[in-house]
Amino acid sequence: MRASQRGIFFYNYSMENELSKSTGLSAHRQHPRHFQGREYVYPVLSRRSRGISIGVNICPDQVCNFNCLYCQVRRGQGERPAAGGVELERLERELVEVIKLLQGGELYQEEPFAVVPGHLRRLNDIALSGDGEPTAAKEFTDVCRVCARVKEGAGLKAVKLVLITNASQLHKPIVQEGLAVLDGHEGEIWAKLDAGNEAYFRFINQTEIPYSLILDNITVTAKKRPVVIQSLFVRVDGKRVGEKEIADYADRLGEILERGGKISLVQLHTVAREPQDMRVSALSNKELEDIAEEIRGRAAVRLEIFGG
Ligand code: SF4
Repeated sequence: MRASQRGIFFYNYSMENELSKSTGLSAHRQHPRHFQGREYVYPVLSRRSRGISIGVNICPDQVCNFNCLYCQVRRGQGERPAAGGVELERLERELVEVIKLLQGGELYQEEPFAVVPGHLRRLNDIALSGDGEPTAAKEFTDVCRVCARVKEGAGLKAVKLVLITNASQLHKPIVQEGLAVLDGHEGEIWAKLDAGNEAYFRFINQTEIPYSLILDNITVTAKKRPVVIQSLFVRVDGKRVGEKEIADYADRLGEILERGGKISLVQLHTVAREPQDMRVSALSNKELEDIAEEIRGRAAVRLEIFGG
């Protein structure tokens, strides 16, 4: 993290308002992962991307090694049965098709994209994510290669390839192969970090994976290229995430930087869509703003807020 970025704070509510007003239906809240019958590829209007993001769902079987309290995926209740692996040919075909719909403008002739204003009709990225942890799929590296090839073939060199990950598998050589492919094709890693200590990590992310592994993975990955940290804070049973949790979290960010990791941005989120656990609810923009202030006091990171 560049020292000059300390305390820089991007307030993002104007972006949200702009999207809501201009679309009339908060299109950014609509992230259906089935687009016109496709299994793997779906376009979304993304607040984070400030334009269109093409999602690639590598986990249609909804398998994840976390079980975050705020997750919106209804595991075991999906429309699709457990898949027998990622069908790479189908994924590639769908990605080519959706890019063509975007490039030809047909995408904007249908709801909800018909109301997207002109300046947001830009493809920002192709995002590897989905209904589970994408790096846990055995085809992860092959999917990276497919996405890179299709992107280049469509003349989209400047479009980013974003990996949205919970960071639990980044130490594995097979995943690092995929990261190398992303590095060569405008790749960006957005790593989840919601906690600053083991106890809160287990509470909010509901996993047996050691917290130290997540921290190490993020740090080692961030030493090789800058990473974006995605963090989501909520209210559980009516109670806001505590000040100690935020202080610990900010200190862990500081430690990643001290160990030589580069954090290009910290995205602060709360829930924007209905979570699986009804005890969980969104923080207000003021609460997110207060949390950002607490973090800024302890870690030299650039922050951006995404309200619910
Ligand atoms: S890591 Fe993502 S997909 Fe997995 S449980 Fe958490 S929010 Fe859901």
